[in-house]
Parts: sequence; structure tokens; C-alpha cells
Amino acid sequence: MQRAVNCYNNTNKTNLNPKAVLFDMDGVLFNSMPYHAKAWYETMQQYGLDFTEYDAYLNEGRTGESTINAFFPQKYNRNATAEEVEKIYQIKSEIFNRIANIQPIPHIYDFLLKVKAAGLMIFLVTGSGQKSLLETLNKNFPNIFHPDRMITAYDVKYGKPHPEPYLMALKKGNLSSNEAIVIENAPLGVRSAVAANIFTIGVNTGILRDEELLNEGANLVYPSVKELIDSWIF
Ligand code: CA
Repeated sequence: MQRAVNCYNNTNKTNLNPKAVLFDMDGVLFNSMPYHAKAWYETMQQYGLDFTEYDAYLNEGRTGESTINAFFPQKYNRNATAEEVEKIYQIKSEIFNRIANIQPIPHIYDFLLKVKAAGLMIFLVTGSGQKSLLETLNKNFPNIFHPDRMITAYDVKYGKPHPEPYLMALKKGNLSSNEAIVIENAPLGVRSAVAANIFTIGVNTGILRDEELLNEGANLVYPSVKELIDSWIF
């Protein structure tokens, strides 16, 4: 990890001095992605669209409409109408709700406790807009998350891959970009964090090749949270 930090410092002409760790949610805190991917795949199949579960992982973080219209024109030579988008997203959500058995990512609570014990602030930065988010977080990760340190779908105008959500987290914490570290699992999430000039660690908890995260500028990629904990130096 030290080598990646040196590289970040040289490239950005800065000195990483972390005071906070900014956590993405889906795929970092919870293993929700396999269910999202399967639900997207089955829905797109119903519409005859050429879309794989790998595509779902690649496009994680995009809005439903953006995901649909990235694939819809290949078959129909036009974008989906607002009604079609709504219907497709509804089918996807129904499948997801039927199959999802969401659990915390292995070892993530240990890592959160380690980060907290080191005196670092913990932020949540997610495109998710569940109403019961804080409740779910507190149930699974007691005494970690605070409503003043959360950026969700309700806070942002653009969302990932725009740097906005991570810039908002920096602002909330009164932090410079060299005073935070981001933990992300998705290419578009990495792109968002890197565009905010934050040291970005990819934890590749899904099916993507590491290159998908490295090519977006991740400073480091680990195959699991266990490896992240073992390498953590802060
Ligand atoms: Ca994610």
C-alpha cells in the first residue's frame, strides 16, 4: 500500500494524510451486486437485449434509465420511451426484491471498526436512495455511521461517475482531497473518486477483472476486504 501512496503523492504533488475513509455501499458494505446483476440480466433477456451479468457490474452506479438506453437502441434503433423505462425498471426491481438475500460483505465490519479505532472519520457515499438506509446500516454495523456523514441519492444532482458525491463528502467533512481515502468496487465509482483527486482503493468483490478498476484510475485493487485489512497502514 505504501508504494501506491507514494505514487499518488508524486502524481498529485501532495502528501496523503488521511482523516477520513469514504465508503461506497453496494459491493463494498453489502453483497447486493450479484442480485442486481441477475435481475438486470433476466429483465434485459425478456426484452431480447444483449446484456450480460458482467455488463451489469460494468455499469454499476448508472441510473436505471441510463443503463437501459445504453443497450436498448442496439435492438430497437431508438431509445426506450419513458413508459418503457419505467416498466423495465419495475420488472428489474421486482426480480431483485424476489431473489435478494443481502448480507454484509465478509470482514467489512472488522475493517470499519479498525478504521474507527484509528480515529479516522467514516463517510458513506452511495447512489442508493433507500428510505431505511440508516436503520439498515445501524443494524448491520452498530455505532459506525452517522446521518451527518452520509451522501445518498437524495443529496446529489449528478451522482457517480461525476465527482460530485465525493466532493460533497469532502466538503461535509471539511477535508482536502489528500485527507481522504475512498473504498470502491465499481469502475464508475472509481472514476468518480479519482476525478475528485482522492486516493482510491478498489475492492474487487464482484466478477470484474481488476483491470476494469485500474483502468479507471484506482490506486490499488484488492480481491477482498480481508486483503485490504492485511495491507492497511493507517
Ligand atoms: Ca458499489
